[in-house]
Amino acid sequence: MLVRENAVLEMHGIEKGFPGVRALKGVDFTLCEGEIHALMGENGAGKSTLIKVLTGVYSKDAGQIFLKGHEKEVAIHSPQDAQNLGISTVYQEITLCPNLTVAENIFIGRTKGRITNWKAMKKDANRILESLDIPAEASMQLSSCSIAVQQMIAIARAVDMECKVLILDEPTSSLDENEVAKLFKLMRELRAKGVGIIFVTHFLDQVYEVCDKITVLRDGALVGEYVIEDLPRVQLVSKMLGKELDDLSDIQGEQVPFKAEDVTPVLEAEQLQSNAGIQPFDFHINKGEVNGFTGLLGSGRSECVRAIFGADHVIGGTVKKNGQEVKIRKPIDAMKQGIAYLPEDRKRDGIIGDLSVRENIVLALQVLKGFFKPFSKAEQYAFADEYIKLLDIKTASADTPIKSLSGGNQQKVILARWLLTHPEYLILDEPTRGIDVGTKVDIQKLVLKLASEGMAVTFISSETDEMLRTCSRLIVMRDRKVVGELTGEDLTQTKIMSTIAGGEKNG
Ligand code: ADP
Ligand code: MG
Repeated sequence: MLVRENAVLEMHGIEKGFPGVRALKGVDFTLCEGEIHALMGENGAGKSTLIKVLTGVYSKDAGQIFLKGHEKEVAIHSPQDAQNLGISTVYQEITLCPNLTVAENIFIGRTKGRITNWKAMKKDANRILESLDIPAEASMQLSSCSIAVQQMIAIARAVDMECKVLILDEPTSSLDENEVAKLFKLMRELRAKGVGIIFVTHFLDQVYEVCDKITVLRDGALVGEYVIEDLPRVQLVSKMLGKELDDLSDIQGEQVPFKAEDVTPVLEAEQLQSNAGIQPFDFHINKGEVNGFTGLLGSGRSECVRAIFGADHVIGGTVKKNGQEVKIRKPIDAMKQGIAYLPEDRKRDGIIGDLSVRENIVLALQVLKGFFKPFSKAEQYAFADEYIKLLDIKTASADTPIKSLSGGNQQKVILARWLLTHPEYLILDEPTRGIDVGTKVDIQKLVLKLASEGMAVTFISSETDEMLRTCSRLIVMRDRKVVGELTGEDLTQTKIMSTIAGGEKNG
């Protein structure tokens, strides 16, 4: 039974596990009539899983779902069940048919009685488009509409199916400001008609512009439900990160403070831009400096360093290496400039599981030298043994397949791979995620040591205390934009969170 007055949907104690992870830990969620409700949380918090349980994509392990108009809990075993119950989803990737007309897209799959009556269908479609103020005409081919309009048509389709619950999962990622404004107008109109809207976005500004309530998830658990006026932005960030604002454990770093007189820029980027959807940004790093990108997961930290390394397609901006303009279009260009990059997703971009520890270590240097001039076995063993010792890599031998090592030791192997190239500039993206505490500390110490020897290091970590311990300068990202830079006394947890939150007007 629905507990709250005005509720259209209640989810009680939802549990969902995948092998090795409890994605939802007894989550409660309530959506009321005529409200826009933001579902917030860092990447991996469980938002999509909750939506997929609600829309019948995943079956839940435990918990109940109640809908207005149903006395008992509802059973949702498939997306079709959800649809039939009036729960509609518009995904980021639009799932319409571009080569059909707008009208056909609105009515596709439910043309009963209309199929032979194109005229009636067109009229109905135009009525719907008009009532929602969507700038499109029924007989237009869908592909001739902008992405924003296509998205609105997907919503129109959902709404026409008498939906009571509309789910928008990151619908605005690919829209420009103007298009976002139109989408919000449509959302407000639907709200006025009594539709409950669940809005998943990582754009804080949008949440405060259009939403009435916020539910925050963290690590698969419910943190709380808040009325928007009661939750200033900085509080929201602190709830998403799970850090208290008045955290007294603000760490004083061991980082070496930077002296203005001995500043030698190693890399300077101006208005660098990639095709990964980040705003153009300026960046520089000096010899012997450790800096870092911070921000919520998904704020664009990795995209920035990927642009610097040429790992994403660079579409604008200039880069200088030691004062000379250079073109970095591909990782190999960056490697030749003495830049090394330890990627975030070592499973995908990093380790080659079937190769040995030795082969994995030698890889980057071999690429630089060229595969037609292979290192001899003796050279390879010498390199591998040196770094196994230096980084204290726990492996039976240099010939052990890397996949049989623990996560922390795999990470050290990848680190060895890049150190072996003697980079001037080392980029470490989440090097300590998912590894044991001992190895974490080893890596932090190593970073500080390398910097003291003159290497420039950019360090990204989701654990802000780890960054505070190692970085002397932090670049803060919000919504895929660089929004601030912190040094000296500003290097505190509280200052990081308030910079991430931004937007004075909402507290
Ligand atoms: P969010 O949408 O908030 O970023 P998700 O719901 O996608 O988070 O993920 C929550 C957790 O569940 C993550 O740890 C994720 O890796 C895991 N997860 C999600 N979907 C699957 C899946 N199909 N198989 C295994 N693990 C999954
Ligand atoms: Mg998601």
